[in-house]
Amino acid sequence: MPTTVKAYAATSATEPLTPFELQRRDVGPKDVRIDIKFAGICHSDIHTARSEWGPATYPVVVGHEIAGIVAEVGSEVTKFSVGDRVGVGCMVDSCGECKNCLAGDEQFCLEGNVGTYNSVGKDGEPTHGGYSQAIVVTERFVCGIPEGIGLDVAAPLLCAGITTYSPLKQWGAGPGKKVAVVGLGGLGHMAVKIAHALGAEVTVLSQSLKKQEDGLRLGADHYHATSDPETFKALRGRFDLIINTVSAMLDFDAYLSLLDVHGAMVNVGLPEKPLSLRMFSVVMGNKSFAGSNIGGIRQTQEMLDFCAEHGIGSDVEVIAADQVNEAYERVLASDVRYRFVIDTSTL
Ligand SMILES: [Zn+2]
Ligand SMILES: [Zn+2]
Repeated sequence: MPTTVKAYAATSATEPLTPFELQRRDVGPKDVRIDIKFAGICHSDIHTARSEWGPATYPVVVGHEIAGIVAEVGSEVTKFSVGDRVGVGCMVDSCGECKNCLAGDEQFCLEGNVGTYNSVGKDGEPTHGGYSQAIVVTERFVCGIPEGIGLDVAAPLLCAGITTYSPLKQWGAGPGKKVAVVGLGGLGHMAVKIAHALGAEVTVLSQSLKKQEDGLRLGADHYHATSDPETFKALRGRFDLIINTVSAMLDFDAYLSLLDVHGAMVNVGLPEKPLSLRMFSVVMGNKSFAGSNIGGIRQTQEMLDFCAEHGIGSDVEVIAADQVNEAYERVLASDVRYRFVIDTSTL
């Protein structure tokens, strides 16, 4: 029998989120029912709730940074038991058989993965995310959260953590590598922590020096203001890797000039409009201009284990469910250090 759970939902692109009751499916043989404890607020939630990335299907319960405790497992579940600490990120299902799924890149499932919210599940029902008391997810898309990370600071790892960990690993951040992180927000602060823990020399490139103290505390070795033209002169040819976490339009040629030969600028932010780039900026120096989208489930588990081992969680501001609309405005004003997390016991 499906269970009714309390949630917070968007009912249109323009209305604030409001309390809502949601049906969660019965636990199937391979399913895990998770009592959600904390749900992070990702900028993507806002884009979806407001139909900014195409029309959403309303009502929609967003949230894809989910941390909780296993409450029930299906008869064929092998990875989890009742009472386990677990997380769910941006996806809840995929075909499991295509070459990308088999390679652990479920985010690029050739049949399309099932998003945690505003998507359609394999059961034909709309999916709803973390701003709710419980969720039922097939065990393949559930990750274990090791002891040693609080569930509140672990929740944002499921999106912000993997989004930054994956490119840092793919482009070899580590000892002897100079990594720059553009933007010190929800994604950027995780990139700094993880790049530092991987052993790289980390530089924050932020619009101003306002958050410099934070940046250095989070693990950055250097901090520069991009509003100061001297920055681009002083750091010319400096970096092996630039992780760009901002979605605003930048002078990409100027940033590419900061790369050493063979360096890569990897974008995890998504500007709304097409951008322009001088091809000279990549050809001269064999540079790469690349992108990266979250990470697969195997790598998400690897990231959680890595973060636990290094004592890394997100810096969070825990809020009650009825503060979510106010939190959205503060996210849009970049007024959060560095992630809002909903305490779902307040639903
Ligand atoms: Zn996200
Ligand atoms: Zn697939």
